Amino acid sequence: MSDEEWAARGIELIAIAFVDNAGLTRAKSIPVARAAVAGQRGVGSPFAFAIFQGNDGMATATGFEATGDTRVVPDLDRLTGGLDGWGWAPGDIYDPSGERWPFCTRGFLQRMVERAAEAGFEVRMAFEHEWYAEHDHGAPAHHAPAYSLPATAEAGAYMREVLHRLANHGVVVEQIHPEYSPGQMEVSVGVQDALTASDHCVVTRHAIRTAWPATGIRPSFSPLPKADGLGNGCHLHFSVWRDGENLFGADPEHPQGLTTVGQSFLAGVLDELPGLTALSCASPISYRRLGPNRWSGAYGCWGTENREAALRFIEGSWAARPGAANAELKVLDASGNPYLVAGAVIAAGLAGVGGKLELPEPVQIEPSRVAAERGLERLPETLSTAADALEGSSLLADALGSSLHEAIVAVRRGEDAAAAAMDDDQLFAYYRWRY
Ligand code: GLU
Ligand code: MG
Repeated sequence: MSDEEWAARGIELIAIAFVDNAGLTRAKSIPVARAAVAGQRGVGSPFAFAIFQGNDGMATATGFEATGDTRVVPDLDRLTGGLDGWGWAPGDIYDPSGERWPFCTRGFLQRMVERAAEAGFEVRMAFEHEWYAEHDHGAPAHHAPAYSLPATAEAGAYMREVLHRLANHGVVVEQIHPEYSPGQMEVSVGVQDALTASDHCVVTRHAIRTAWPATGIRPSFSPLPKADGLGNGCHLHFSVWRDGENLFGADPEHPQGLTTVGQSFLAGVLDELPGLTALSCASPISYRRLGPNRWSGAYGCWGTENREAALRFIEGSWAARPGAANAELKVLDASGNPYLVAGAVIAAGLAGVGGKLELPEPVQIEPSRVAAERGLERLPETLSTAADALEGSSLLADALGSSLHEAIVAVRRGEDAAAAAMDDDQLFAYYRWRY
C-alpha cells in the first residue's frame, strides 16, 4: 500500500511501537509521507532499550554498551488505524549492520514460531485484557455490581467507544464486559497466530488508551491499581495445532480430549512456569496481584476450568469442540511483554513435546488447599525470586539467546532494587498508570 492509500484511510501519523524487556511499549512516530522510507531504513532508537526498566531507569548488564543506535523498521503490512489521524505499526529492530537485533523481542517470537513450524506445529493464541477505567474526575467508569447489566448501562457509551477503536485496528472483539470491581473492565479478542495475537495485545491496549482523550476515561493496566483492590490479568489462551487438528481437543479417548503430544506441550509449559513468571509478571506490583483466591494462578499446576490454577484447561463450549479447546495462562499481567511470553510458551511447550513429558493429574480445587499433599509449587512471590528462576532456566536462556536472557534478568533486578526504595503508597501511585 502506498502513502497516498494510507492517507486516504485517514492516517497522517504512524506510531511505530516496540515492547521493551520491562514490558513497556515504546514508540517513535513518523508522518505518513515518511512511511515508505522508514519501511526500508527504519528509524533510530538507542541500544539502551535493551536494559530500560519499567521506571525508565536503566539496568547494568555485563558486556552491554550504552552507546549505539538500532533501526526500528515498521512492519507496514500490519499498519492499521486512521481514527483521529493516527495509524499504528509494530516495529522490528535491527542492529547497525542490518542484522536482527538480539534484543528485539518480536524477533524472538518470530524465531520461536519458526521453530514450531519446523517441528510441524502452529500455536494459536489470544490475550485477554483487564483494566481499571476511571473518569478524569476520579470516579470509576462503573460502580458494579460485578458483571452486571447496571454496570453495563453505566459504562455502555465508553464500551462502545472502545469497540469502535478496536475495530479500526482490525481487532476482533468476542466479548466485552464490566469485570469484578468498580471501574474494572475486560475484553476478549479472537484467536490468531502467535505473532498476530501478540501484535493485537499491544494495539488493543493502545486503542483502549486512545479512548481516554475522547471519553475522559483513563485506563490503568497496572497488575494491581490499588493496594486493597482487585488485580488486572492479561491471560493468554493458547492451543497447539498439527495438520489442521487441535492437539488439545482431538483425542476422544482422553477425559479432556488432550492428545499425548498436547499433554506433553502443556507439561513443558508447566515445568517452565517459575522462570516464565519473570517474563509474564515483570513488575514489582505483579507480585501483589498473585496469590490464592484471586484467580491469578499462584500455583504451578493445571486444572480443568480451574480459575485458581496457573494453567486453566478449557474444553470449549459443546458447539465449538474440538477446535475451541485451549489452555489459559493466568499468571500473566500487562507488564508481561507479549512477544517474550508467547515465544517462551512455544519454546517450553516444544521442549515438553521433545522430551515426551507427561502431564500430572489435574488439580480441581483451590491449589493452596492441597499444595503440601500434592507437592504443588507456589510460583515466585517476588520479582527477585522470579528473576532467579529465569536466570536458572537453561531452556529459556537457550531460547532467548544469552544476551537477551541476561538483559532481562538485569532489568528485573534493577527494577526490584528501585521498588525497594519506595513505600507502598509511592509504589502503587507510581505504577498505576505505567502500563
Ligand atoms: N482479575 C483476575 C486476575 O487478576 C482474573 C479474573 C478472571 O479470571 O477473569 O487475573
Ligand atoms: Mg476476567
